[in-house]
Amino acid sequence: MFSKRLDRIQPSATLAMTAKAAELKSQGIDVLNLSVGEPDFNTPSNIIKAAKIAMDNGCTKYTPGSGILPLKKAVCNKLARDNNLLYDPENIIISCGGKHALYNACQVLFESGDEVIIFSPYWVSFPDFVSVTGATPIFVNSRPENQYEPDFNDLKSKISSKTKGIIINSPSNPTGGVWSDKAIIQTLEIAQKNDLWIFSDECYEQLVYQGKFKSIATFTNNRDKILTFQSCSKTYAMTGWRIGYTTGNQAVIKAMSKLQGQSTSCPNSIAQYAAIEALNGDQSQVSKMANIFNKRRKLIIDGLNKINGVICDTPNGAFYVFPDISYYLNKKYKGQIISSSSDFSLLLLSETHIVTVAGDAFGSANNIRFSYATSEQIISEMLVRLSDFLALVK
Ligand code: PLP
Repeated sequence: MFSKRLDRIQPSATLAMTAKAAELKSQGIDVLNLSVGEPDFNTPSNIIKAAKIAMDNGCTKYTPGSGILPLKKAVCNKLARDNNLLYDPENIIISCGGKHALYNACQVLFESGDEVIIFSPYWVSFPDFVSVTGATPIFVNSRPENQYEPDFNDLKSKISSKTKGIIINSPSNPTGGVWSDKAIIQTLEIAQKNDLWIFSDECYEQLVYQGKFKSIATFTNNRDKILTFQSCSKTYAMTGWRIGYTTGNQAVIKAMSKLQGQSTSCPNSIAQYAAIEALNGDQSQVSKMANIFNKRRKLIIDGLNKINGVICDTPNGAFYVFPDISYYLNKKYKGQIISSSSDFSLLLLSETHIVTVAGDAFGSANNIRFSYATSEQIISEMLVRLSDFLALVK
């Protein structure tokens, strides 16, 4: 009944765990949800106010398909202010979240016969964005001990005449890894030598805990094939507003606008006006939220590393940790064998009501992902329950 296109993609594992957590919560179960990929804060009040004003002023109609000009100008200001990147509004498209932007870009650039490099562990959606176009995702290993920077020998060996693009995501979901300048430069050199389209998903750009984030496009003057994806979602706790944007080559932006015009028509008008305030207005909440995340990061890493058999590296960004739990694989909990990270995550949910996402979903069999975009109280309680649970795994 359904097209073959649909067979090429999987349901989002992270959204599935979030739905599971909501279901258990609605049954009155004391769930500790560490699966969510969104800030637990409300959107800052100046942004909410801007949305209310937009509605009162009648900004409630369709907008141009690629977004309103004042928002594109606000993006240009933001790129100059935060990223040291100078672009014009013609280089910008506003989409319904970074996810939509990445999906559209894959649609306009990749097709059957192409190969696209994705670093593993990867954000769950990258392989699907590529597969749905008919192209093939090619997975390249990364090095956990080094902020999940690329294994460059593996990268070089995976590039062929079919390789058309490469997707970079630093800071990363699920690992939280932030690549060094050296790793970025080396990756760019390889990608540009092979004339690849370079996608840089920078949606966690404001959540870097050591040093300052540098947008990948700033590392070269040859930006013609670099597309930068950023979003209001994580930076301004605006996940539900659905505003993301892409910056880069005018022809690609135009092609994405054409596709968008025939799918969503335009991004939400009210959210676009709110996003102008987000990008141009008071930025103090951004660093306040980042400081709170940083405190939680320390709490969860210290706690996880105190548990026998759990190894948690220190990621420098985003709001995820990705501990190695392989010590517990192929062991038994009350007679039940834990044969994969999915088994681990599901048992954890049923026995302790801790919600995580299995590393399997991100192409990593030995890990599970915890999001620390939740309170210190929940993190502390999770550590106690996890430790008690693992004490019974033999
Ligand atoms: N890219 C990465 C790596 C993400 O983790 C997410 C969301 O979880 C997105 C993009 C998409 O975010 P949004 O569509 O809300 O901008």
